[in-house]
Amino acid sequence: MQTKTGPFRMLINGVLTEGASSMAVINPSSGQVLAHSPRASEEQVEQAILAASGSYCMWSRTPLEQRRETLRRIADTIERHAGELARLLTQEQGKPLKDALDEVQGSAAFFRYAAQAQFGARTLEDSDTRHAVLLRRPLGVVAVITPWNFPLLLLAFKVPHALLAGNTVVIKPAATTPLSTLLLGQLIADTVPAGVINVVSDKNDLGDLLTSHPLVAKISFTGSTATGYKVMANAAKSLKRLTLELGGNDPGIVLDDADPVRIAPGIIRAAFFNSGQACIALKRLYVHSSLYDRLCEELVRLAEAIVLGDGLDPMTMQGPLQNQQQYQKVSELLGDACRHGRLLCGGPVPDSQGYFIRPALVADVQDGVRLVDEEQFGPVLPLIRYTDLDEAVARANDSQYGLGASVWSSNTERAVAVANQLVAGTVWINQHIDLGPHIPQSGAKRSGFGIELGEEGLLEFTQAQVINIKNEAGNAYPKGGCR
Ligand code: NAD
Repeated sequence: MQTKTGPFRMLINGVLTEGASSMAVINPSSGQVLAHSPRASEEQVEQAILAASGSYCMWSRTPLEQRRETLRRIADTIERHAGELARLLTQEQGKPLKDALDEVQGSAAFFRYAAQAQFGARTLEDSDTRHAVLLRRPLGVVAVITPWNFPLLLLAFKVPHALLAGNTVVIKPAATTPLSTLLLGQLIADTVPAGVINVVSDKNDLGDLLTSHPLVAKISFTGSTATGYKVMANAAKSLKRLTLELGGNDPGIVLDDADPVRIAPGIIRAAFFNSGQACIALKRLYVHSSLYDRLCEELVRLAEAIVLGDGLDPMTMQGPLQNQQQYQKVSELLGDACRHGRLLCGGPVPDSQGYFIRPALVADVQDGVRLVDEEQFGPVLPLIRYTDLDEAVARANDSQYGLGASVWSSNTERAVAVANQLVAGTVWINQHIDLGPHIPQSGAKRSGFGIELGEEGLLEFTQAQVINIKNEAGNAYPKGGCR
């Protein structure tokens, strides 16, 4: 299949639009320029917001069934072009082609799932004195801002629910991975009415404009906690609705009854999937002393079998880090951890043009080491020994983050008892990174604000409105109720 290398266009008011300028996008497997992306000017972002605002009245009044049909047609388009989108995603993001295809098909599935979601009116009271109904109204223009680890899937967490509820959107992908989002915009340009979906790409410089713009009613943001603070400050200026899916430092706790051979594959996947660049990756593992050495041995065996390479090579199991800055940050954290602990395997690949780090395991490190305390967002897992379970739980909770966590055990009852003590949006048992469009995703503490996915995620794109009718004789309740 031919790989798309351009020209890429933004989607503004239904028109495929060149950027005011352009910027190079790097293929992280080679360090070479993959393609050029449009770079929006402030005026173009303004135009996109105005287009979304202008189409809002029409879209919010479009019958719900038609909005559902639009989501299904977007899902069909994604599926029809899955191969092309996946290859581009691999080339700009670095992930193996199979994982890219999973991401693309998963995105289509999220659009399709949202198309059938229910959020109708709810009668609160129907008595002799009053009839009160709770309705869900759209909010207006939603700014959708995504990071570079899962450009399409994270967009698909947000856009389907936003549109279904009757909002219009301006999507802004990350500066290092804009291409797959731009291509998606190009592919669906004729599927949605002009202005309902807009896509603009920037060089990491127009987020402030988008998030402080008075015509934006809601911001749905996924990215780092540091940027999340800025987004929240901007949103506060006009009290915009806000969903923040931010950083994490997910702990895992291995109980003394776990079977090392059984749990090791799940731990490896949880730590190294997408080269460890997942908000809900396993980022520090607390292992009971009685099985620490056996588990380390098993993890090393599996980590060393991981084939690193260009994601387009069918043999590749793990790609590079997505960008040079991230490569440097992870290398630095690993270097620091090696001074405090014992490197069991892995590390930066020398003399490579790409940003490759072999899956690394660091044993005998403790809290207080940067690799344990900070979010590494890369293929490096610290293994921390413990003897007292209560202390391990306390250490797992001793973080500014609270996105995910996991407990690994042969005894589900014991594992659930530990899960109940962990402060996190999701606690998995004997797995980590398991998602579904019907399962709400949220972060505790500085990992976020609000909920994505599931019914709760959909409601975040709505404004509650109560219609409260005084019930008097001869005062008939409107046929068909309130909608
Ligand atoms: P980032 O915060 O640097 O960038 C995210 C997005 O925000 C990009 O599109 C960027 O251009 C934009 N941005 C930059 N400055 C902005 C500003 N002032 N206002 C508005 N937008 C601005 O994050 P990243 O490095 O691209 O992604 C990695 C981070 O994302 C990690 O911390 C990871 O944990 C987090 N993440 C969280 C989730 C989740 O669901 N909680 C999912 C994926 C990634």
